[in-house]
Amino acid sequence: MIRQSNFCPNLNHRRSRVPVRGCPMCGEIVNQTIPRRCCTDEEHAIKRRDRDNYCSGCGLQLRQKT
Ligand SMILES: [Zn+2]
Ligand SMILES: [Zn+2]
Repeated sequence: MIRQSNFCPNLNHRRSRVPVRGCPMCGEIVNQTIPRRCCTDEEHAIKRRDRDNYCSGCGLQLRQKT
């Protein structure tokens, strides 16, 4: 069981130059300078398959927390 906390293990939070707008694990915006993307359903399907919780392009929640 993973405890819910503010700590996110994703490396994007520790980088100074992040190539994506949002963190795929917690959905937090890690780079404000990158504009929100207009993603297609297909792109989201690929991210879901990669087990991303959130879309790094637009911040959409891809997986439901149960
Ligand atoms: Zn995160
Ligand atoms: Zn998206």
